[in-house]
Amino acid sequence: MAKITMKNPLVEIDGDEMTRVLWALVKEKLIFPYVDLKTEYYDLGIMNRDATKDEVSAQAARAIQRLGVGVKCATITGNAARKAEYKLGDLYPSPNATIRAILDGTVFRKPISVSCIKPSVSTWKKPIVIGRHAYGDVYRAAEMEVEGPGRVELVYTGAGGEERRTVVADFTGPGIVQGIHNLDASIEGFARSCFLYALEEKLPVWFAAKDTISKTYDGRFKRIFRELYEGEFKEKFKAAGIDYFYTLIDDAVARIIKGEGGVLWACKNYDGDVMSDMIASAAGSLAMMTSVLVSPAGVFEYEAAHGTVQQHYYRWQRGEKTSTNPMALIFAWTGALAKRGELDGTADLGSFARRLEKAAVDTIEAGEMTGDLAKLAVPAPGTILDSGEFIDAIGKRLCKC
Ligand code: NAP
Ligand code: MG
Repeated sequence: MAKITMKNPLVEIDGDEMTRVLWALVKEKLIFPYVDLKTEYYDLGIMNRDATKDEVSAQAARAIQRLGVGVKCATITGNAARKAEYKLGDLYPSPNATIRAILDGTVFRKPISVSCIKPSVSTWKKPIVIGRHAYGDVYRAAEMEVEGPGRVELVYTGAGGEERRTVVADFTGPGIVQGIHNLDASIEGFARSCFLYALEEKLPVWFAAKDTISKTYDGRFKRIFRELYEGEFKEKFKAAGIDYFYTLIDDAVARIIKGEGGVLWACKNYDGDVMSDMIASAAGSLAMMTSVLVSPAGVFEYEAAHGTVQQHYYRWQRGEKTSTNPMALIFAWTGALAKRGELDGTADLGSFARRLEKAAVDTIEAGEMTGDLAKLAVPAPGTILDSGEFIDAIGKRLCKC
């Protein structure tokens, strides 16, 4: 069978530990036999990040800006223990943070549904996608302990020296205070990424905040979303048969739990942090989540939602069999290949990606799966496959379809 050819390369970002092992295996068994793969390769394994003084992380991000599509393996975020373990010269920021800072994106996480694993919320019929704003609010806060009675104020000093003040509180005793901020440009980028993703996936968008209480701060989020929607997206949404809906965050939570899913839930930074873990746990496992960073400029980076699965790697190094689930890595590849195909007008790349996804889902639904899923599946499978056996089982199905 002739291999599918690619018009343009995509950016391939290699990573660390167990996911690096599976990365090579997924390519060898599930992609190379079918696709004449063209990639621009960046090694973000921790040793190469150290050797390049982390220059390679920024280079990879810029390559995604240039080529439009990237796929990323999980990477170690350095800390003192890792510095000692890998004898690193220095500690650098997490590659994800570096890449996000350059692409200015929003991360979308969506569960991969399989019929033998039921979400814990019985009404959910379709996946719920979380779009999390990745800038500001409490994650960039200034905080202070207040020792005793006194006044705390917010003071704005303009570039021209003019001053504005507002009283936060007149303290009658000790307490605490916090200052948070956000930027119109970042909020608009977040809203734009959500609307672009929704058009792509044909999903209605829900955005929720608490503007009844936070009239200025959350009110600004609400207004920016509405203005962008009315100005640029309303007609496109109408044509795609989807809509945009704003509600209060507590109402959104109630609707999500009672609803059947099938929405993109755009969340402010903190809400997204909390709610994405709720959705992921209720849906099964982090290995069954797809994750894509969409930049407001319309470039895409696909990745797994989980880390490098460190403990499994140590077992693999000792020569033990590991039953690490490669689904999120496979779906990172299929997401990137399908997007490359779409941007290049090479439909066979997209249909290959959908066939591979189907083969992977069919394999699990036929009762062949890794240990993490075996714990959740109904009916429970008779045997648990190791990572290699699971990938081979997908390969066999892919061959036939
Ligand atoms: P992790 O790699 O996500 O693994 C935590 C646990 O979750 C594993 O021990 C395993 O549980 C389970 N798990 C995760 N992915 C799995 C899979 N594909 N198949 C089966 N089980 C899976 O998180 P971590 O151990 O806290 O972090 C390890 C390293 O990853 C750290 O150095 C961290 O910096 C990095 N990290 C990277 C990213 C990223 O690049 N996107 C994200 C998060 C963390 P059991 O042990 O119970 O089997
Ligand atoms: Mg969290």
